[in-house]
Amino acid sequence: MAHMIEVQNLVKIYPDGTEAVRDISFDVDEGEFFGFLGPNGAGKSTTIKILITLLRKTSGDIRIIDMDITNQTDEIRRQIGYAAQEVGVDDDLTARENLVLQGQLYHMERNLLRRRTEELLELMDLTADAGRPAGSFSGGMRKRLDLATGVMHRPRPLFPDEPTTGLDPQNRANLWVYLERLNKQEKLTIFLTTHYMEEADKLCNRLAIIDNGQIKTMGSPRQLKQELGGDVIALRFAENAQSVDQQIGAACDVLRDAPFLMNLDRFDEGVNVYAQDGGAVVPEVLRLLDSTGLHVAQLSLTSPSLDDVFLKHTGYKIRDEGPAQNWRSQRGGAFGRRRRR
Ligand code: ADP
Ligand code: MG
Repeated sequence: MAHMIEVQNLVKIYPDGTEAVRDISFDVDEGEFFGFLGPNGAGKSTTIKILITLLRKTSGDIRIIDMDITNQTDEIRRQIGYAAQEVGVDDDLTARENLVLQGQLYHMERNLLRRRTEELLELMDLTADAGRPAGSFSGGMRKRLDLATGVMHRPRPLFPDEPTTGLDPQNRANLWVYLERLNKQEKLTIFLTTHYMEEADKLCNRLAIIDNGQIKTMGSPRQLKQELGGDVIALRFAENAQSVDQQIGAACDVLRDAPFLMNLDRFDEGVNVYAQDGGAVVPEVLRLLDSTGLHVAQLSLTSPSLDDVFLKHTGYKIRDEGPAQNWRSQRGGAFGRRRRR
């Protein structure tokens, strides 16, 4: 069967010369929960905007549901869903009215529209609040309503762009439940972007790590973590007579030839040491460091995480960009609100 999304050699250069997407290729299959994981400015939104036909590619071949994005734009637009970073619900309307309005925009038949509205209110746990104006909703509830409006017409696929950015950790984890429901119960193919490791790990069957407009690696979270092999001993250093950087350099020098070493990745504050059976080699690691007068400020022993995968393939650690932004401040971005009456 053809793929749901097929992207070959996609390039996007903005008019000002910014190379936002530099030759990326990937496929997404029907029913998959696929993710783009990358930091701010990686090219995630640019890719999504191209896939949903809001932005023109510079070059490359794209097929959505086996239709060519250049020739069959209108048909593709009818089929896809787009949940933007900007919440697209109307504050003055109730949750139910927002859904009905959306269904009317898609010319849904009356009975179907009514059924679909109640079904989605139920799926998103909004039935009890369906009669309240969306303006009175919390951030998490709005996101749920926004997702519901985005899937009224059963899009294939759905393209949520950083759907949980701006939510506090609890609401973020809460929204994951609803995204999973849409994927599993509605059998929706989802292409999601995020800069949260944990989110990608939890939700995605498969993901691509994107940085600087390029796909650095791709696979299932489990596969990507397994590729790193063994356990991770993370060593962190604190500034003393030597700078952190000097200590990291010295640690790399002394550990590089150790027989147990499978891999070594440095980051800003320390080094990841990969070894089979990490617990057994920790004493030896410490002994080696001690022999060169290095003092470890912090040591942790874990299985590889997506954080470690990201570090391996990009050479740095992704950071949470400070305190969560309020979703309201993100409004009216590139496209403003999705629709206005
Ligand atoms: P992400 O969604 O991963 O944060 P974007 O796709 O928004 O990344 O941006 C990728 C790169 O393209 C960034 O360097 C960004 O500054 C740049 N960019 C985004 N939109 C435009 C635009 N309209 N004109 C020029 N450069 C842009
Ligand atoms: Mg973005």
